[in-house]
Amino acid sequence: MQRTSKLYAIVNGKCPQCRRGDIFTGSVFGFNIQKTNKNCANCGLRFEIEPGYFYAAMYVSYAMNMAEMIGMGFATYYLSGAKIDFDDIWLYVSVIILGSLILSPFNYRYSRIILLHLLSPKIKYKPAYDTAVK
Ligand SMILES: [Zn+2]
Repeated sequence: MQRTSKLYAIVNGKCPQCRRGDIFTGSVFGFNIQKTNKNCANCGLRFEIEPGYFYAAMYVSYAMNMAEMIGMGFATYYLSGAKIDFDDIWLYVSVIILGSLILSPFNYRYSRIILLHLLSPKIKYKPAYDTAVK
């Protein structure tokens, strides 16, 4: 039996229970608005396991955002040679705000994936569902 790896499922936004069905409609940076599917098309798992469950993803996305902002701040410092003083503050502010906007679809998607795959002890991988022919 061919098992799908957890890493593959996380990177590709697959269902945590069967690692086959898509959690989201559309692609990360597609022109269509990405939505979270209600149930897994392959195994039927309900992704929002209880009402308001995805509020918890906000904390994950907050942590991701902070890490990205710090990363962008350092990148700006090293790549542009800008000084850390008041004259260059707008460069930092614009890079960080613009970067956060560009990354927001990514954060939306991966905060939910991290929540479902790594922070939800109720959801377990069931290899039996991972057998559908692709
Ligand atoms: Zn599934």
